[in-house]
Formats: sequence, structure tokens, C-alpha cells
Amino acid sequence: LSSYLIDGKAVSKATLAKVGAEAAALISRGLTPGLAVVLVGSDAASQVYVGAKGKAAKDCGFHSLQFDLPETTGQAELLALVRRLNADPQVHGILVQLPLPRQVDSTTILETIAPEKDVDGFHPINVGLAAIGAFDRALIPCTPAGSMILIDHACEALGRKLDGAEAVIIGRSNIVGKPMAQLLLRESATVTVAHSKTRDLAGECRRAEILVVAAGRPEMVRGDWIMPGAVVIDVGINRVAGLQPGTTRLVGDVAFAEASQVAGAITPVPGGVGPMTIAMLLSNTVTACCRQNGLPDD
Ligand code: NAD
Repeated sequence: LSSYLIDGKAVSKATLAKVGAEAAALISRGLTPGLAVVLVGSDAASQVYVGAKGKAAKDCGFHSLQFDLPETTGQAELLALVRRLNADPQVHGILVQLPLPRQVDSTTILETIAPEKDVDGFHPINVGLAAIGAFDRALIPCTPAGSMILIDHACEALGRKLDGAEAVIIGRSNIVGKPMAQLLLRESATVTVAHSKTRDLAGECRRAEILVVAAGRPEMVRGDWIMPGAVVIDVGINRVAGLQPGTTRLVGDVAFAEASQVAGAITPVPGGVGPMTIAMLLSNTVTACCRQNGLPDD
């Protein structure tokens, strides 16, 4: 390994300590940040994510609510729950875990969450606020927000500046790729968004001083796609067959062993972006709580 390893666990721990201190200050004023997480069905990965989110919220002293609804839950029932949580003054953040079962229209559900409680940052109002650069009023999606903190951390460690830097993002999803582009633009990087129809993906990557990969393709980005010294943020989480028969392991979208010989700094999978996502969810909940109560949020 010749590159600086970006330790997402350590950075997330520091972020959570800060969030916990902010929560404690609010609690001492009689205001407990409240987060409601809604899970529909029994998808194994979703259960793990939701459990981890609830535990982190409790660890930070939040009022933490979890709603486990059966796979057969209908649209009307879920809408009624979201409306009830919108109206509950003890709940400052609402997260409906995706994916939702087929009979439920995710877009309608996400658009029903009150924008000021939308701690996932997926409501069109929050997407729009980020698009016009009104970051002080928007809630920003957690995974790109956490990735941005890791990029800042790596730039500081390497003595780099982001303004003017060539940043390439692979993936254009609403959850990761597009909001990541908004955040890098805010820092005045020169941003390219590549995707499944990009003609010369390796060529685009080779120009990147900052490379963020969120494609969901195991180890797609090879070592020789990376500019020597680049900051590489691997958002991908892919479960693949393990070395022993019958076992599995997690890999990112970047071939780590190769890439870490070339990159200036790189995130591992697991232990990179993943832990940051939960920390940013709690950070967004504190921000939402402050804004809903007319308090400064920074
Ligand atoms: P998505 O499937 O919604 O989007 C994937 C994007 O990658 C698309 O825009 C597509 O055009 C692009 N893409 C797919 N194959 C490609 C290829 N061969 N070449 C170039 N581009 C390609 O996925 P998503 O929700 O954005 O998630 C991406 C990855 O990040 C997944 O592995 C997911 O598990 C992971 N993820 C991790 C976290 C976390 O907390 N660390 C959070 C969200 C997503």
C-alpha cells in the first residue's frame, strides 16, 4: 500500500462525537433530536442498515423511533404514517428505508415527507435547494455528504486544494452521483459525471485528481485507470463470492489492491464511505431539529 488510507471509521467517529455534543447541548435546553426510521418488509440488507441507524441515534442520545411494517403494507397506510410523523413535534427527521415493495410508489412517499424533516435529502425541494446552491437551507443526501467530508480530509492530509481540481464521478443516481456533483461544484472543482453510456470510462478516470466511484460494479475501476496521486473515494458496496467456497465478502467498485499502489489517498470497503453515511444522517437530524426550532444550525 503506497497511498494514504482514508479511515472512514475514524472520521465517522469524530463526526459522531461532534453530533453527540450538539445533541447534548440541545437536550440540556429541553430539546431532544428525534429520528423516525420506517422499514417496510424484511429485506436483509435494509434490516441491517435500519438497525445500525437506530443504534447510532440512541448512542447519540436521540429520541429514536423505529417502525417495522409488513411487506404487504399498502400505499395509503404508509402515507398515513408519514403524515403522522410530519405532524409530530418530537420527530425532527424521517427516513423511509428504500427500496420499498412494489405496491408502494416511492416517489409519492418521498414527496410526502415534510422537506424540513427529510433527513435523507431526497425530497424535490431539498434536491432543488442543493441545485441552486442554497446549501444553508437544504438537507443534503447522507452518502455524498459523508464522501465530501472524506475528500476534505484527504485533501488536507495531502496538502491539496479542491478549487479548480479535476473531479470525476462515476454514477449519476439521485442518491449518490448527482448530489456528489453539486457538492464538488460548491467547492469549485471541475466536475465530470460519467455513467453507463460514457464512451471512454478509463480515459475519463485517468484525468481525475478526485475520483468518486458509485456504480455498483465490483472492482470495475482498475489500478491503471487511476492518475498517480489521485484521491479515490469508493462508494460501492458489493457482496461477492469469498475465497473459501460458500463464503461471501464485501468489495467496492474499485480494485483496491491495484488502486492503492497508485492513488494518493483511497477509501477501503468496508470502513470507508459506509460509516460516514450514518454519521451524516444523525448530523442532518440535528440540523433539522435546530432549524425547526429557530436555532442556528452550525
Ligand atoms: P444506482 O444503481 O442507482 O446507480 C449506478 C450508476 O452507475 C448509474 O448512474 C449508472 O449509469 C452507473 N453505472 C452502472 N454501471 C456502469 C458501468 N459499467 N460504467 C459506468 N457507469 C456505470 O446505484 P447507487 O444507488 O448510486 O449506488 C451505487 C453504489 O454505491 C452501489 O454499490 C451501492 O451499494 C453503493 N452505495 C453505498 C452507500 C454507502 O453508504 N456507502 C450508499 C448508497 C449506495
